[in-house]
Amino acid sequence: MSAKIIDGRAVSETMRAKMRSRVESLGLRGLTPGLAVVLIGEDAASQIYVRNKAKACESIGMHSEVHRFEHDTPEDIVLRKIADLNGDARIHGILVQLPLPDHIDNAKVLAAISPDKDVDGFHQSNVGALVTGQSDFPPCTPQGVMALLDYYEVPIEGCNAVVIGRSNIVGKPMALMLLARSATVTICTSRTRDLSQFTQIADIVVSAVGRAGLVTADMIKNGAAVVDVGMNRLSNGKLAGDVDFEQVSKVAGAITPVPGGVGPMTITMLLANTLKAAERTAEAAAVAKRASA
Ligand code: NAP
Repeated sequence: MSAKIIDGRAVSETMRAKMRSRVESLGLRGLTPGLAVVLIGEDAASQIYVRNKAKACESIGMHSEVHRFEHDTPEDIVLRKIADLNGDARIHGILVQLPLPDHIDNAKVLAAISPDKDVDGFHQSNVGALVTGQSDFPPCTPQGVMALLDYYEVPIEGCNAVVIGRSNIVGKPMALMLLARSATVTICTSRTRDLSQFTQIADIVVSAVGRAGLVTADMIKNGAAVVDVGMNRLSNGKLAGDVDFEQVSKVAGAITPVPGGVGPMTITMLLANTLKAAERTAEAAAVAKRASA
């Protein structure tokens, strides 16, 4: 069997083209969606991610701005910037690029973002909403995975899904989203005794670990959908996921490549969340105008 390639770049392009016209419609109402990114420190990967996010905003006509801080910037300065952005009418989405330097409290910074502008979906109230199935801003990477599964019509309801990894930004929200769609979900971690025992019976496997070669062909059921969130830089400089793509694609029914799978979808979902936040602002303004007329 040769797996169908789940092409995240193509799906992203299709979704972004639709978003571009929604941005234009907002423009006719005098509103340009705006994303503010807060970047602390000089982490090379973060610099690249932030640049890509800004470029993506530009490509669909959205405003974006990056607020850069030195690595040793005190926490209260960062919190003050977030407070300013919360009150800035030009900004509809705020994203703090992770990871943060050790002296800055992750939870405190994420909690400072207004939940209405929390387009990464990491604020506790948005996390809580996700648990109850009512989230406005689901975290971008798992939301991107769900969009890919839907685009390729991978059945979710009633299937066995295995999520490898339990981070707050990928593994846990991924499991919740699959559960919300009535999959039977198993979460595996570094402490799972026999990973293959779970993956071998899975119809959907999502790997979000950060270890190249973790998922091999013998771990995958014939015809399963395999989604590779992992991003690993190999010693030869190449980018690879967690999945042995060449071998697994011989048994899987569908598979995401790395690069070109989940990565582009993460940014596309960030755009989608920011656009959604901007459309709500426009709607609230229209309601207020009608009420005062
Ligand atoms: P993370 O916070 O380091 O979490 C990794 C998870 O993998 C942990 O829950 C860990 O378990 C688990 N794990 C480690 N070794 C394992 C093993 N041998 N078997 C099963 N589980 C194991 O990482 P993350 O932030 O979720 O990111 C995961 C990967 O996705 C990274 O490669 C990251 O670069 C990539 N990523 C990609 C995108 C994208 O847009 N494509 C977005 C975000 C992240 P414990 O909890 O027990 O330690």
